Amino acid sequence: MNLGGGSAGSSLAASLSQSKQYSILVLEAGGAPSPIHSLPTIAFTQTNDPAIDWRYMTVPQKQAAFGLNNNTVRWPTGKVLGGSSQLNAMMYLRGNVQGFDEVAAKTGDSRWKTANILKYYKGLENYDGWFSKNDHGSGGPINVERPVLSKFTENIMKAGEELGYRIRDPNENGPYTEGFSKMDLHLHNGRRSDAFHEFLRPAMQTNRNLIVRKFSRVTRILINSDSEAYAVEYLRHGRRFIAKANMDIILSSGGIRSAQLLLLSGIGPKEHLREHGIRTIMNLPVGQKLKDKYGALVGPFLVSEGQSTVLDRDWILPDLFRWISTGTGPVRTSLSEGTWAIVTEEARKRGKVTKPDIHAYVLSISFPEEARYVLQNTFNFKPETYDFLSRASNMDSFFQLVTLNAPDGYGKLRLRDADPLSDPVLDPQYLEHEGDSRALLEGVKFAVKIVENTTAMQKIDGRLMPEHFPGCEKFEFKSDQYFECIMRHTTLTAFKYAGANPIGKGLSDPDAVVDSHLRVLGIKRLRVVDGSIIQLHHSSMNDVTCRMIGQFAADIIRDDWKLS
Ligand SMILES: Cc1cc2nc3c(=O)[nH]c(=O)nc-3n(C[C@H](O)[C@H](O)[C@H](O)COP(=O)(O)OP(=O)(O)OC[C@H]3O[C@@H](n4cnc5c(N)ncnc54)[C@H](O)[C@@H]3O)c2cc1C
Repeated sequence: MNLGGGSAGSSLAASLSQSKQYSILVLEAGGAPSPIHSLPTIAFTQTNDPAIDWRYMTVPQKQAAFGLNNNTVRWPTGKVLGGSSQLNAMMYLRGNVQGFDEVAAKTGDSRWKTANILKYYKGLENYDGWFSKNDHGSGGPINVERPVLSKFTENIMKAGEELGYRIRDPNENGPYTEGFSKMDLHLHNGRRSDAFHEFLRPAMQTNRNLIVRKFSRVTRILINSDSEAYAVEYLRHGRRFIAKANMDIILSSGGIRSAQLLLLSGIGPKEHLREHGIRTIMNLPVGQKLKDKYGALVGPFLVSEGQSTVLDRDWILPDLFRWISTGTGPVRTSLSEGTWAIVTEEARKRGKVTKPDIHAYVLSISFPEEARYVLQNTFNFKPETYDFLSRASNMDSFFQLVTLNAPDGYGKLRLRDADPLSDPVLDPQYLEHEGDSRALLEGVKFAVKIVENTTAMQKIDGRLMPEHFPGCEKFEFKSDQYFECIMRHTTLTAFKYAGANPIGKGLSDPDAVVDSHLRVLGIKRLRVVDGSIIQLHHSSMNDVTCRMIGQFAADIIRDDWKLS
């Protein structure tokens, strides 16, 4: 029984249902996606819709997010078949795969070694992106295509070269390294290529042993006195149901809900469960190692006319018709142009050199004034923040979201109360770790350097908009203090809420919630298969990684049950 039909859950259920020796029941809280989700350009205008987004909010941040209402950051998360792959920005990156070697070493399970994991990634890919096909697979279910890019992206790439970095495939030869890259997207014929359409729906059409129940919100896992998970309780259209499992119960409810469901079912830190009157069945550090990939929005950067995307000028109604009929044209973009990744001096000082610690997304456009109502809410910006961000909206301009790839600071996920319909309390503790703050500041300054200190960007008149960010007026423009002020105002998530149920060695590992078979420690027949098992210092919790984990876990489960 599979609880959640998101990126990992869809991939897992599709793979498991290939064997007819058993049946799979998928319980998904959301409904089916609408065709509108397939238009890449509208990524981010879809979030915040309660029909498809769980609409989580963090608690007010003490050191960050000052430019957001109440210092709280929205954490959109898909509540629909396909999960967050229906809401996301479709950027195709495997991310830090070399960290799987650390998982293998930590757990003592060689199946998690990077070389083996890479076979799964390649086996899943149908790659037609910007880079050599030698490092990618073809014929797999995950479709990767090139989006339409703005002109200034070429200059950003050249600027990277000028600064001594290579333009490279972020996934070249496997490990994730420093460099600059054009963006590949999860697209199929120009349309969003999500986990529902790639995995679950084809399996539902052919595998009669796969039953998918939409609008089924799981509220608790039932565990007997023998510490065996045997059933789940769920709500469907206001009615309560119990579903019993003869084999495994598998939580694929995503980075946040899987942990909340474990806590509600008596699996978690015992003092915390006691606070909420929940009997502890297994004392485990659920929610204690939450980490998010996050950073600062930097810009607007201005460039000369015709270089970036201006809504009024570059998108006209016929473009939409062109995309509907051919999947091509200017709306074949998720408004992300490229990425760059560097190892900061701060990371070098602390010996963190095995992977880049800063990863940035170059965005195509300024925040349009016309989209204020939607985007101000989507990101929870204060009105004065949006005023600033949209000031260049009718000019050729762009932003960079500079993020900490694997911050050192941890946050926490806790229950608000024992009501399964409440949202958990999410405190990522953004920028409370001094080393993270120093690294992000370096990243922010580097983003400005790319634009202002390279010939390639000067050729197109690249510059930071010469206006003070509201709330940072007292600092000298472009001083370190000014940039620090900006990053503590425009703090945003990069949507990788990871590590609430980390994989580890076993009960001797104080951080671990699941073992290398993804079994919840101390509980029989209960597993977690989704992004919550990932710790960001091991791997990036990208969409493709979650889908890969679904396939990998299916093989582990078949092995454990000795099934074909
Ligand atoms: C706005 C946004 C932008 C992103 N952009 C990118 C990007 O460009 N590139 C990239 O690689 N990654 C991106 N990501 C991250 C990526 O999409 C996620 O890491 C990944 O999809 C998570 O997969 P998952 O299987 O862990 O969870 P999800 O895909 O979120 O799936 C969990 C599923 O479980 C269901 N569920 C939850 N609770 C219950 C319950 N109680 N009962 C029944 N069902 C339940 C949910 O409704 C959901 O369908 C983005 C994410 C977001 C939200």
